Amino acid sequence: MRFLYVHIPFCVKKCNYCDFVSGKSSPEERRDYVELLKKEASLYKDERPEDGLLTIYFGGGTPSLLPVAQIEELLAAFKEYFGFASSMEITLEVNPESVSRRYLKQLKRTGVNRLSFGVQSFRNHHLKAMGRLHRSEDAVKAVNEAADLGFENINIDLIYGLPAQTLEEWRESLEKAVSLPVKHISTYGLKLSDKSLWGKLAAEGRLTLPSQDENADMQLLAMDFLEKNGFPRYEIANFAALGYPCRHNTAYWLRKDYLGLGLNASSLFNGKVRAVNESDMVRYRQKVENGSLPWAVREVLSDDEIREEELFLPLRTIWGLDIASFSRKYGSDYFAQKKGQMVKLFNAGLLTFEDGQLKLTKKGVLLNNEVLSSLI
Ligand code: SF4
Repeated sequence: MRFLYVHIPFCVKKCNYCDFVSGKSSPEERRDYVELLKKEASLYKDERPEDGLLTIYFGGGTPSLLPVAQIEELLAAFKEYFGFASSMEITLEVNPESVSRRYLKQLKRTGVNRLSFGVQSFRNHHLKAMGRLHRSEDAVKAVNEAADLGFENINIDLIYGLPAQTLEEWRESLEKAVSLPVKHISTYGLKLSDKSLWGKLAAEGRLTLPSQDENADMQLLAMDFLEKNGFPRYEIANFAALGYPCRHNTAYWLRKDYLGLGLNASSLFNGKVRAVNESDMVRYRQKVENGSLPWAVREVLSDDEIREEELFLPLRTIWGLDIASFSRKYGSDYFAQKKGQMVKLFNAGLLTFEDGQLKLTKKGVLLNNEVLSSLI
């Protein structure tokens, strides 16, 4: 286990589209939570990897609401319990309005070497409608300051498919993104669950969302535009300059073991046990304080479930699925049985086969759910 995820479930206010496990907090609650995270980490110290952690990812929520001193404390605890590899990727998700130049300057000294900015859009009317607390100019300033202070590996997250968003507005956000000193851009299609305000409004028919075709046009535009501007796609939603794919997220797609700490965080052990932590703070606290693992769910994946994940996770990436090694493991009849579906997918231009790797085409990326479900 060389990949560590740490969930920081705090936000200043809830965004209108968000259903993540996150909420308001006081400084005391944040302080307590950091102690719980350290205690939870100590429960796994027997899992210490021989050569130390390769990546740490602070996600949320808004991890940048933690004072730098608390991030330092957490890193020191993780180093003590798990050890650090000589070259690590340590990512912190940052909301543009939550960081000052002083904060970023202090953060630079902690070992955090990758920042992921929750920008979402460079149009202020969209940001306002989403309930975000920053304006486009805040995001530009924060990213430039981070780069100026020596953060070289910067990601920005963008969302398309926003209510009433046009293709032209999406293009402007992409243009702005590539003009900034960033190495990585993630583009997510808006997904609404009925737990979010927008999800409820959409269910009542009170939100005008782009059609499926308009969404597909936006996704296609991102693929074409970002590729032409030095950010080739390496995963369905992720684009990076050469040498800058996110090492942490790539571990998920390559199905490496990982440990998740904090509320609602999930872990994968030995490639077959998936655990998900409690999402309720009271229950999480009780378990950690009692010295027990704060799992709400622990499931042993069946052989079929593992095979499905080993099939569809690599297919999400530009590297694709190594047919020879998959067939060695699961027998060549797996693909023989799927021959009919595969021929249809090839003929429809959704799949391609290059150098022994099965890959989604650009069109296949747009229809990835359909392709993956017909292969399973
Ligand atoms: S900042 Fe992120 S995690 Fe927090 S409410 Fe907004 S979308 Fe959700």
